[in-house]
Amino acid sequence: MTENRIHNFNAGPAALPLSVLEEIQASFLDFKGSGMSITEVSHRSKWFDEVINDAVERIKRILGLDDRFQVLFLQGGASMQFCMIPMNFLADGQQADYVNTGTWSTKAIQEARIQGKTINVAASSEDDNFTYIPENIAFSEGAVYAHITSNNTIKGTQWAEFPDTGGVPLIADMSSDILSRSFDADKFGLFYAGAQKNMGPAGVCVVAIREDFLKMVPEDIPTMLKYSTFAAKNSMFNTPPCFAVYTVQLVLKWLEESMGGLEKMEAVNRQKSDMLYGLIDAGGFYNGTAAEGSRSMMNVTFRLPTEELEQSFVQEALANGLGGLKGHRSVGGCRASIYNPTPLKAIEALCEFMKEFERKNG
Ligand SMILES: *Cc1c(COP(=O)(O)O)cnc(C)c1O
Repeated sequence: MTENRIHNFNAGPAALPLSVLEEIQASFLDFKGSGMSITEVSHRSKWFDEVINDAVERIKRILGLDDRFQVLFLQGGASMQFCMIPMNFLADGQQADYVNTGTWSTKAIQEARIQGKTINVAASSEDDNFTYIPENIAFSEGAVYAHITSNNTIKGTQWAEFPDTGGVPLIADMSSDILSRSFDADKFGLFYAGAQKNMGPAGVCVVAIREDFLKMVPEDIPTMLKYSTFAAKNSMFNTPPCFAVYTVQLVLKWLEESMGGLEKMEAVNRQKSDMLYGLIDAGGFYNGTAAEGSRSMMNVTFRLPTEELEQSFVQEALANGLGGLKGHRSVGGCRASIYNPTPLKAIEALCEFMKEFERKNG
């Protein structure tokens, strides 16, 4: 039943590895001899314990996290983190830096301000419509953390290197590029990612939190909004989103065992994005919207000469089995989201289509 599947360039929820979907299908009615589906077993059962523990171990191994980090599975999406981070880490009189690189950073800043927290926007690329990642940022001394969005899903920009904060721990929203490349976790107090971009289905947000950040959590905030609540219970203070965690586990296993680990995954991602940007840069028909040094490996954003052409591009692409190429409704244009699971052959098919479309309409 796979012959109707399209090449999926959706921004999120997004493509999952076919082998993962097939494994879910094959074990759906009887999970590991339990006689139950994974959606029917207790989260207190040995079956689910194995799933969540394996997922945590794999994330730590893939990203090289040492034992100062705990990996949590939370609900409420990445958006809930926008509110939890300032609530857990900024006491009265304390301050955090934020870098504003687009829609999601703006929302993170807003959630801190709603709570009356002191926020310094250390840099912003709003002056050029968020098409670039700021450089040479003057971070504040004494900030509790500096928050960045590592990949800007909507504008198609990405931090090529993480900034030097002068020792202030970074917190990053890595929703759309976690597990796509290696990075030095030492600089981070916390990072988080909604799973539905690069890691699994919607319904779970992965948070890696360092022990010194866990110690900052105050007593007097709601139980369900405290990191410490979930850290103390291996993410099972209440019922976790079992099926989403299970799918994430399978994606992690796929990354390690089928793709050969993070370095290899990163090389493939680079190859995929180079291929697409190469085509965009080759002629004058397609126009990349992100500044060159700030281009995302995950979300390739581009425009065509007219909006009419963009519309027919998206429609014709879909008729050719290439879905999800419409840009975010807030910015228009086109966007190809090419996360880990999107295979090289999907990019090749897209490039072929783009060349043909240019030939006919250029
Ligand atoms: C999609 C996205 C979000 C929002 O994620 P939810 O899980 O829907 O809350 C936040 N940040 C980034 C970078 C995203 O791409």
